[in-house]
Parts: sequence; C-alpha cells; structure tokens
Amino acid sequence: MAKAVRAKARAKAPKIPYTPDEVAEIFRRLAVQRPHPTSELEHVNTFTLLVAVVLSAQMTDAGVNRATRTLFARASTPDAMAALGEDEVREAIKSVGFFRTKAKNVQRLSEILRDQHGGEVPRDRASLEALPGVGRKTANVILNTAFGEETLAVDTHILRIGNRIKIAPGKTPEAVEDGFLKIIPDGFLRHAHHWLILHGRFVCKARKPDCAVCIIADLCRADERWCDTAAPLVALPDASPGPQPLPPGAKRPGG
Ligand code: SF4
Repeated sequence: MAKAVRAKARAKAPKIPYTPDEVAEIFRRLAVQRPHPTSELEHVNTFTLLVAVVLSAQMTDAGVNRATRTLFARASTPDAMAALGEDEVREAIKSVGFFRTKAKNVQRLSEILRDQHGGEVPRDRASLEALPGVGRKTANVILNTAFGEETLAVDTHILRIGNRIKIAPGKTPEAVEDGFLKIIPDGFLRHAHHWLILHGRFVCKARKPDCAVCIIADLCRADERWCDTAAPLVALPDASPGPQPLPPGAKRPGG
C-alpha cells in the first residue's frame, strides 16, 4: 500500500486502548492460527472471483458457492459470461439474494471487461469501482486476494470486531478500514482481511462470541465478556523458530 494512503489513515483514526506491541501480538497470534488464509468463495480465476464477490452481498459464501458451481462450469471468462446472457445468468443464480440486480450487474460487467479491458480484470481501483455492482469493498477483495495488494475490505465481521474490541472503532466501513490501516503492523496487512473475517465468522461471532477458545481473549478490550478467560486457552506455537514476534520484514508502526 502506498505510504501516503497509510499515513492519511493514521492521521484520521481515533485513539485505541491497545499499545502497538499488543496490536502486533494480536496479529501475530491470528497469523499463527491461520498461516495461509484465503477466500472461502469458490473461483477458478480472477474473473470468477470477481463475480463471486459481486454475488456475495447479503449472502453467505456457502450460498454463493452453491449457485456459482453451475454458473462457472458454463462460463468462467467475461466472453463466455457475456455470451451466456442475462436470462441464463439470472436462472443460474436465482437462489442468491437480489439475483435480478446481480444478474444484470454480472452481465454488464462481463461486457465491459470483454470490450474495454481485453477480457481481463483490471488491477487498478478506479477501473474496478467503475464496474457495475463493484464498490470499495469488492475492489479491496480483488486487489488483495487476486493481486496481492495490501488492502483491507471491511465486511460485517470486520466492522463488528473493530468496534466490539475497540481496536478500530468507526461508524462506517471506511472509518473502520482507516482505523485498521493505521494500526496493522507492516507485514501483516496482506492477510489481515482474511484473518479478521475468519475470526469474526468462527470465534468473535455476532450473537455469542466464543471467548473461551479465543486466542486473543487475554488482550481483548471488549466491554462485554462472554467468559472469564484471562489468558489464551489454545496452545500457540511461535510464528517462527526463535522468539520473534513479527514475521520477516515486518515492523511495528512507527518502529
Ligand atoms: S475475547 Fe471474545 S469478544 Fe474478545 S475478540 Fe475474543 S471472541 Fe471477540
């Protein structure tokens, strides 16, 4: 990520009840727990990832995957999807919420990729966000998951975690994104999106967080606690041999 973008985010984010060392420890543990996180949306290339993310609004990944298995078997490129036509796309994804609007968006974005981008998914944010059905969050997912850029797409899980544990509070996804960009140590940002989503989906859940098995319970500053855990109950191996809290090349903000 460009230094100017992170510097801007740092300037705007509010104060939080964590020291830089504690933030680094939180992300170190999340990294140890899931060393190779990736999207749970099934896809075979960058284009199908883009379509899956567009379809995922207000949907579970499992629900999207059920619909896209058939769709992607028939069309996995912008050319093929555009040729399939809106009616066929709509029929294939009719189990997905807002399928009529989403089918229209998939059809139109496929035509734009075919006609204006040589059948490729563009790597720049402006071109991505110009596609129908693609907003900042979707662009961040594509830039991160497909192109390895250090972006953070804030979904409902990340929005909740940022506010619940007060590590990146904010009323809007943009504010929470800014907050996380301010504090995530260099070297962790590449996978932070997936670590936080998976933590929110499986541990720090909306209704009843599993604090008893949470690997950051002893560091968590949430107002409400769902157990009396004072230290991590899950055995945590070091992220690397030797007592190094950060991965190679990583450094704490300001360090
Ligand atoms: S201790 Fe509970 S509230 Fe805090 S991060 Fe873990 S699951 Fe969430």
